[in-house]
Amino acid sequence: MVRVPKDWSPDPGQMAIWPDVSGNAINGQGEDATRRPQHVYWSPDPPSIPFGQVQLWFYGHNTDPAFNEQRSRRAALQQEPLVPVAPVAEPGSPGDWTARIQAEALALGAEAVGVARMNPDWVFEGHAVPWRTIIVLGIAVDYDTMQEAPDVPAGVEVVRQYTRGTEVSKALANWLRARGHDAEPEYGPLSGEITLIPAALAAGLGELGKHGSIINRELGSCFRLAAVLTDMELVEDGPDSFGADDFCAACQICSNHCPPEAILPEKQTVRGVEKWYVDFDRCLPFFNETAGCGICVVVCPFSRPGVGTNLVAKLARRAGRGASD
Ligand code: SF4
Ligand code: SF4
Repeated sequence: MVRVPKDWSPDPGQMAIWPDVSGNAINGQGEDATRRPQHVYWSPDPPSIPFGQVQLWFYGHNTDPAFNEQRSRRAALQQEPLVPVAPVAEPGSPGDWTARIQAEALALGAEAVGVARMNPDWVFEGHAVPWRTIIVLGIAVDYDTMQEAPDVPAGVEVVRQYTRGTEVSKALANWLRARGHDAEPEYGPLSGEITLIPAALAAGLGELGKHGSIINRELGSCFRLAAVLTDMELVEDGPDSFGADDFCAACQICSNHCPPEAILPEKQTVRGVEKWYVDFDRCLPFFNETAGCGICVVVCPFSRPGVGTNLVAKLARRAGRGASD
């Protein structure tokens, strides 16, 4: 059962180092024109971003040995060199390779996989990602452990799954490289170059929920993202739409559970796109003072095993009835 503190107020120690800029302004809330994203948090180089000191405060605040063990493991995995690209590329049609990659990603441990054409609008300002294709991986987070949100066991589970995402994305990139197709892994949350949520939406991993995370038709919001970049021509999946966006318009479960009331009831225009949006300046202090919160993703009905898939089926039946009216 998630713990939802009442009457929470921000820690003065954290607020003392809060930068003199709104994270919502960095994110482009209220901006009508499109532009590339800027790093607001989870930078691989925290001192280079305005909220870097706050990111470092999170590390200093969340020092449970289980956190540190997962972080060390992830860092070690990131240091491991990729295998060389084999000199001769195995041939195959885009359809054959897409099917092989999907099967391999699932065999390596991903729970969801989708393909999209890489879009420069997803690349953080100041970075270049010259790859043609992105293969996005969904890595499941254990729902029962997430019931401990916003406390340490849930936070450790999230870091554990990011570590697994690093492992799977590196293994898939190596699998392609060994077959003569250049590829590079990309993993959250310190992805460094790409904001993975829009890539995952384009790759058909789900719809954006009111809580600012993706809702997948099988995993709900209990999953994390990783990816592989390649120049291969693959069959793109396209966005998935199953009614979650409409459902969110009438649902308030996540917003009612969010202690700092960060989940906005209406869509916002963010860098030229109208979408659900979480108030960064409200969410982050609570996220940091707990073990990375996670309340909103676990209380979402789509995340509950059995309930989420039934909900998706019900939405499909309702859409079918609407189409035949
Ligand atoms: S809890 Fe409700 S409103 Fe929030 S993301 Fe899930 S379905 Fe949407
Ligand atoms: S992660 Fe942020 S938006 Fe979600 S419940 Fe926690 S504080 Fe609210």
